[in-house]
Amino acid sequence: MAAPSPLTFNHLNVFPGLVHGVFSRTEGYSKGSFLGLNVGLSTGDDPDIVKRNRALMLSSAGLTQALFLNQVHGTDIAVIKSEKDAAGAVWKGQGASPSKILKADAAVTNLKGLGLVIQVADCQAVVLYDPQKEVIANIHSGWRGSVADIIGRCIDTMVTQFGCTPASIRAGISPSLGPCCAQFINYEQEIPKAMWQYKEEDRPYFDFWQISRDQLGARGVLDEHIETMGLCTRCRTDLFYSFRANKTTGRFAAVIALKT
Ligand SMILES: [Zn+2]
Repeated sequence: MAAPSPLTFNHLNVFPGLVHGVFSRTEGYSKGSFLGLNVGLSTGDDPDIVKRNRALMLSSAGLTQALFLNQVHGTDIAVIKSEKDAAGAVWKGQGASPSKILKADAAVTNLKGLGLVIQVADCQAVVLYDPQKEVIANIHSGWRGSVADIIGRCIDTMVTQFGCTPASIRAGISPSLGPCCAQFINYEQEIPKAMWQYKEEDRPYFDFWQISRDQLGARGVLDEHIETMGLCTRCRTDLFYSFRANKTTGRFAAVIALKT
């Protein structure tokens, strides 16, 4: 199996101490509906194959340990300041699976060598890096996360728990459901009125990339420090898994880590 090489954020490539990227599905061991590098264990795919995909992804990223979360479209943020905070929940390459999974939709750490992984198939993964404090975060933000402003909450956590300054934070927004495909027929029930400004005038299509950009901006992240990959998962099922395109599908991974 060829080592998958992740799509990276151009503006983060200038930091040599950082590992980051979004792994497309183009390599990997999964077959059929899950074809490629499916890292999602609760998708219906063979768990042993998913574990091999995870190990392949980690070794391709040059990592020997990573944190995969139990993502529930909530607002819990896992703060990992010491090995003990993630004890039992860390994946170690080819080794045994962890004994527990932390339930959270974002993780923040200053530990070197620990990959933070977010698994998505239309939702956004938003990676954050503060080069001054050497702190990273990875956020799962689907439409529920956007409504709950998990991005803003995560920046608040970086500020209060790690002393980060928003103006120094860099942000990257993964491929996800783009404005071309983010149709919300029931938006009047699901999306608060304050966010209707992101809807197309004549159709219930929303620009969640802009919502994230504005949520970052509202906390003080500079516009020039934000990069959106701008790839729509539903339009590009050759590269990514999309729940909107295929109900039975895998999850692709966005990862960020501080080098040891
Ligand atoms: Zn699209």
